[in-house]
Amino acid sequence: MTNLGIKTAQKWLKDADAILVTASNGFSISEGLNLFANDEKLRTVLGDLVDKYHFQNLLNALSYHYTNKLDQWRAYARVSEYYVYNYHPGELMADLKKILGNKPSFIWTSNVDHHFKIGGFDNLLEIEGSWTSGVCSAHPQEHPVVSLNETLHQIYEKDQAGTLTEDDLPTCEECGAPIAMNVPGPTFRMNQEQVQGFKQFIEQYQDKNILVLELGIGPHNQLIKAPSMQLVASNSHAHYITINKGQLLIPDVIGERSIGFSSSIQEAFDALLTGKGELEIQGPAKPAPKLTPEQQAEQEKMLKQFYPSYMVDRGIRPGELTMYMTVDKDHPSYLHMIQDGQSLMYSLGDAAIVHCFTQDGQYYSVRLGLDKTKKEVHGFYVNAGTFIAIEDANDSGAGFSQVSAGISANASSELLVPRVDQLTKLFPNQKELIERLSVKQ
Ligand SMILES: [Zn+2]
Repeated sequence: MTNLGIKTAQKWLKDADAILVTASNGFSISEGLNLFANDEKLRTVLGDLVDKYHFQNLLNALSYHYTNKLDQWRAYARVSEYYVYNYHPGELMADLKKILGNKPSFIWTSNVDHHFKIGGFDNLLEIEGSWTSGVCSAHPQEHPVVSLNETLHQIYEKDQAGTLTEDDLPTCEECGAPIAMNVPGPTFRMNQEQVQGFKQFIEQYQDKNILVLELGIGPHNQLIKAPSMQLVASNSHAHYITINKGQLLIPDVIGERSIGFSSSIQEAFDALLTGKGELEIQGPAKPAPKLTPEQQAEQEKMLKQFYPSYMVDRGIRPGELTMYMTVDKDHPSYLHMIQDGQSLMYSLGDAAIVHCFTQDGQYYSVRLGLDKTKKEVHGFYVNAGTFIAIEDANDSGAGFSQVSAGISANASSELLVPRVDQLTKLFPNQKELIERLSVKQ
């Protein structure tokens, strides 16, 4: 079984038209850069700053609000000297190149260590910037982005020689304001060349046989993981290979076209290159039975009952659909369970009242609308497993309320309806509400 999973993954890689590599801090950790570790290396890299500021890890040192600008740049320079200036691509980078071969590929990463670029991967989007670029702190969007590679190395040398002064710190060529590290925050400016390259790659391959190779991204990552899974969900030719020890979380929607390696990245790379290995592998899942036209019609009928008047639009993000639904006095959206988490947004008309009954026995209601004095919110997120019902607040004279919901394109459209008697037992105070908003069976 293990070898079958490896062989299937190899075949997907071989057959792919293009490969999108996604990577976050799990990949950096495999390369020896751990932003969260409190270990001997922290002291080796940061030296006396560790005790001076009581840093627990690298992230502390990089995000600390320094009043002493010299110390701030000392920290940047020491980290950069160790992890960027003296970085030499190792076996992981070499193996990744072998795996990608000559195929069109693109790296999408939240790692700020610039290692992929140094490793020779030019098709790259560093979505959280990198330690090698700086922006004008006064005019981050207008004045040129500068490379900090050499600057940081010089600061490091002077720091070591004990000759670092304020004059050595970088300033904007246009206006003389201090340069800030170009990482997420109020002055962050994303590299537009990289963004264009990424857009082009996605446009060219999103409908082709594209494979997402995910390296060390945590299961709840919304920045890269969620949209790349949506990309796979929206294209039936696409495949998904994820490597993350002990933290595989492959949604059913893409289960048939997904393989997960619960192993170190190096072990998985070895397996993908040799076709052998004793690793814990998950998937691909067996295909779910297809619905007959009659079952589909039946489902459609059910859906109409819950979303009385609805239409569906392709969302902006791949694989996400926006469903607009309209409720009025006589046509509420009856109680049903949200199987995948979804965001609900007020769209137009009267305010909408969303009643929520959670799995752990909580009841709450939310008013979707624009009037803050009535505690209305524009949108909110409903967790999977919540029973919801939506009704028109009937307060603006519109006579209807429209709400939009972001749903996954391939999400199961099966509807789960609560049993009224059981739900009332759980929520006796909402008995009237439950009876009023339950579909008559
Ligand atoms: Zn400037």
